[in-house]
This record gives sequence, structure tokens and C-alpha cells, in this order.
Amino acid sequence: MRKPKVAFITGITGQDGSYLAEFLLKKGYKVVGLVRRTTSIRRANISHLLGKVAIEFGDLLDFHTIEAVIRKYQPDEVYNLAAQSVPADSWSHPIYTGEITALGVTRTLEAVRSAKPDAKFYQGSSREVFGGAKHRVCNEETPFLANNPYGVAKVYGHLITRTYRESYDMFACGGILFNHESPRRGLHFVTRKISMGVACIKLGIKSPPLNETGEPLVKEGKLTLGNLDAKRDWGYAKEYVEAMWLMLQKKQPTDYVIATNTLYSVRDFCKIAFGHVNLHWKDHVESHEKFKRPTEITASRGDYAKAKKELGWKPRISFKELVELMVAADLKRLSSSG
Ligand code: NAP
Repeated sequence: MRKPKVAFITGITGQDGSYLAEFLLKKGYKVVGLVRRTTSIRRANISHLLGKVAIEFGDLLDFHTIEAVIRKYQPDEVYNLAAQSVPADSWSHPIYTGEITALGVTRTLEAVRSAKPDAKFYQGSSREVFGGAKHRVCNEETPFLANNPYGVAKVYGHLITRTYRESYDMFACGGILFNHESPRRGLHFVTRKISMGVACIKLGIKSPPLNETGEPLVKEGKLTLGNLDAKRDWGYAKEYVEAMWLMLQKKQPTDYVIATNTLYSVRDFCKIAFGHVNLHWKDHVESHEKFKRPTEITASRGDYAKAKKELGWKPRISFKELVELMVAADLKRLSSSG
């Protein structure tokens, strides 16, 4: 019997890491996940995978733990998805964001180079690298103009990945992913705040989860958000992790934009989400300065033509379907938690 391929995922407890682990397990991989060591570990996204994946504790701050795991398992593929991943939090945590989201990439690349240099490497790059670029549509050739600490850290992570590819002939790819969402999206992100807010309001939940400022997400039937006019190219995370794997199956490593090439506003998201449960968003949504970014990124779409041509990848579900499945999942989650 052929030995199964081994994949190592940093950030396996996150949205993408958990979907990618499921996807790779179905493909017959042995999956090893790096879980950040804390005293009380929360693993909601991977609780159904425990026993199916190998868990190792480590941190992107700590080169030695990453290197030891790679040396132990000798992975064929390494997916670096761990990051301080919340752009809005990067203004309050700029140095930490740089340590994890930028230098953490170098630590992981160095660990690969030292312990398994022929492993294929995927870096979770982001559309935030384009930041304030004036382009309405961005592709792999669009110059980087990041304008928040997270985006700047992602530029570093992307370029150091390219540098290792070119300097050491490593198989290293950067996936420049536009926003992608799901019921597993963290509650610091606006899409999940909306889907969870709708579910709390619809079900009359008395103690809603807390938002990023430590206040209840919903107060007296109102959900407070930032800039309702902000526009994003939003796709479905479960589809985006397939693109990560496809990149590592190519003969030659390169970078790809993964996106839907569509644009919707936060207001559009609210309209569909509240409409799905027969409520009107205007009755429940407020906007407050404290949730607005000091600098907003340009409303740009992602051109995924290269991924379509070379990987055969394209987005499948619509924006409306995505919003509705997120609302349905939060309604179900809250209903079943009593
Ligand atoms: P996510 O749900 O926020 O997951 C981030 C993961 O990183 C979590 O597993 C987290 O662990 C882990 N992590 C954070 N700090 C760490 C540290 N110091 N050491 C080890 N692990 C650490 O993010 P995601 O949405 O899945 O995104 C995956 C990657 O793609 C990230 O790099 C993100 O920046 C990037 N990206 C995401 C999007 C998007 O729209 N989702 C778009 C472009 C790029 P805990 O569970 O312990 O917090």
C-alpha cells in the first residue's frame, strides 16, 4: 500500500485550516495541525476532527517548535495559515501583527528549509496587500499598496515566500485570497457579526456573544457595525481551500489571486441576512465611528483568471447563498445550544 501524503497545517483551528484539514483527510492525507499553546484551548472548528488529525502544540513566535514538528513528520505539503488575521485589530496590535503575520512566515519557511526543504509550501497571502491601490480589479501583477499593519505584514509574508522560492529553489506559492467567509469565520469579522447578530435578534437571545470591544454583540435589538458602505469581494471559504491544494499540485510554483470578481457592500450583506429571517435591516443596524477603520482599503474586485486557466478553479456559490448559509448556521447553532 502506498504511504499517505503528509500535510502540515499551521492555523488548523481557524476557519481555513479546519476546512482544509477536512478536504485533505478526504483526499487520503495524513494531516498534522499546529495548535497554539494556551492554558484553555478552544477548538470549536476542529472538535469533529480530533482523533483524525495529529495535533502538535506550537507557536509562530517559536521557530523551534515549528522546526521540530516538520522534522518529526516530514510533510510533503506545508500550509501556513496561522496569522494575527484580523486587519481591524492590527492597528491596536501592530507589533504583534508584524511578529506573527510577517516574521512568522520567515520562521515557518526557515523551518521547512532546515527540516524538509523539498516540502511544498503554501502561504496565506491576502488581498489586503493591495490596500489603497486605485485599481478596480486586481490580479497577480497589481502593485502592492497595503495601508494597514495587517496588510503590510502580509506584503512581507508574500514577498519572503517569493524570495525563498527564487533564492533556494523551494516550491513555495502565495495564494492572494480575497475575503472568504463561512459559519466558521471569527466573530471579529463583520460578516460573522452580522450573521450572528441576525440569529441573536431573531431568537431573542438574552446573553449574546461579545464583540471585539468586549460588549454584547446585540443590545436592545440593535447590532452596531462600522462602515456600511465598505465593499468587498466575498467568497466561500470551503471553496477557497481547494484552490490552496490545487496550487501545490502544479509542476511549477507561482502565485495566484483567488476571488469571485464581484463586489458587495456591508449594507448589501445586512439586507440579505436580515431579509432571510423576514426582518428589515434598517430596524436593527447602526453604524458607529469606533468600528470604522482609520484607513479603508479600495473597493476592488479580484481577477481570478489565472487560477481558472491554470488550476481549473472558479467560485461556485453566489453571494446570496453564502450570506444565507451563514445566517442559517448561526440560527441552528443558537437554537441547539438552548
Ligand atoms: P483565522 O480563522 O483567524 O485563523 C487564524 C489561525 O491562526 C487560528 O488557527 C489561530 O489560532 C492561528 N494563530 C494565530 N496566532 C498564532 C500564533 N502565534 N501561533 C500559531 N497559530 C496562531 O483565519 P482564516 O480566515 O482561517 O485565514 C487563514 C489565513 O489566511 C490567515 O493567515 C489569514 O490572514 C489569511 N487570509 C484570510 C482571508 C479571509 O478572508 N479569511 C483572506 C486572505 C488571507 P487560535 O485558534 O489559537 O487563535
